[in-house]
Amino acid sequence: MSDPISPQNNQPLLLLPICVISCPHCSYEYSQTCQNLSTILSCPGCGRQFFYIDAFLNHYRRHTQIFVDPIHPIPIAPGYTLGGDIKVIPDELQVTSYGITYNRSPELFFLDNENRPVRDLLLENLYVAAVSISAESFILLSRTFNRSIPTPEQSIRWVSIGEIGDHEKPIWISILQNSADLILKSEEQAAFVMLQIALDFFLDGVVEQLGLTKSDVKAATRRWKISDRRAKIKLLEKYFGLLSRDMITNLTDLAEQRNRIVHGNVEKPGAQEVTCAEAFCIIIDAVITVNNAKYAYLRRERLTLPLTHDS
Ligand SMILES: [Zn+2]
Repeated sequence: MSDPISPQNNQPLLLLPICVISCPHCSYEYSQTCQNLSTILSCPGCGRQFFYIDAFLNHYRRHTQIFVDPIHPIPIAPGYTLGGDIKVIPDELQVTSYGITYNRSPELFFLDNENRPVRDLLLENLYVAAVSISAESFILLSRTFNRSIPTPEQSIRWVSIGEIGDHEKPIWISILQNSADLILKSEEQAAFVMLQIALDFFLDGVVEQLGLTKSDVKAATRRWKISDRRAKIKLLEKYFGLLSRDMITNLTDLAEQRNRIVHGNVEKPGAQEVTCAEAFCIIIDAVITVNNAKYAYLRRERLTLPLTHDS
């Protein structure tokens, strides 16, 4: 095995921080990292306030599937995309370090001759793939198909993408990232259940931001004789105004699909089923929809964060 290539002589050709955020009020875009993803920032464009994580998600509002992309998923927290070139030595194991340490093994892919991301490459008389991917480096394996044919050293381009830094996150973000990881591993059922938990924790967070407590939610559940989930949404609607009916229908369908998975309920035979990657996008869309309504409410009522008014 060759010595690890040090970052000095393996200067990444590509070094892209993943930290662009979009103001949820005016969509002003800029780069910013935050140690605590719940930090309240003021927009350099409009001067209004928002939580960092809300602006991070808002940046991807039209591309929510990017978080569960099978080749290069974006982490749901600031990170880095790095890339470089390697000269592949036929039939050798080569260690390449990224030059930075990711929080866990990043997603790693190669670019084929049409610049498409792939997990392994077929070159001239040579097969190339990563055999081990750690938080600091990866090991590249190459095998010639026919050893009697002289095989030239060939250059390939790699790209890694992952989270960096020790972020304090709201719990629903950690759960959402776990469900994204499960989706990438095709653990459909576990991902489905995890997504529902993430949504409930998210709604709890917004309810809390409004100064409401768990006992307010319990009281509403009893008063309206509805589920906790519906009670939280109805409580939010008292402040924000009616939320999108499409969103509520989609969430109801998802909850029913989750119940079919967990309890084997077949209340609605033939009901529309979605894949867990689609379910993920429905959940992120719901999060962004609720956030939009929250920030519209803050503007309407001329409120600043954190909200400390009594309900
Ligand atoms: Zn703004």
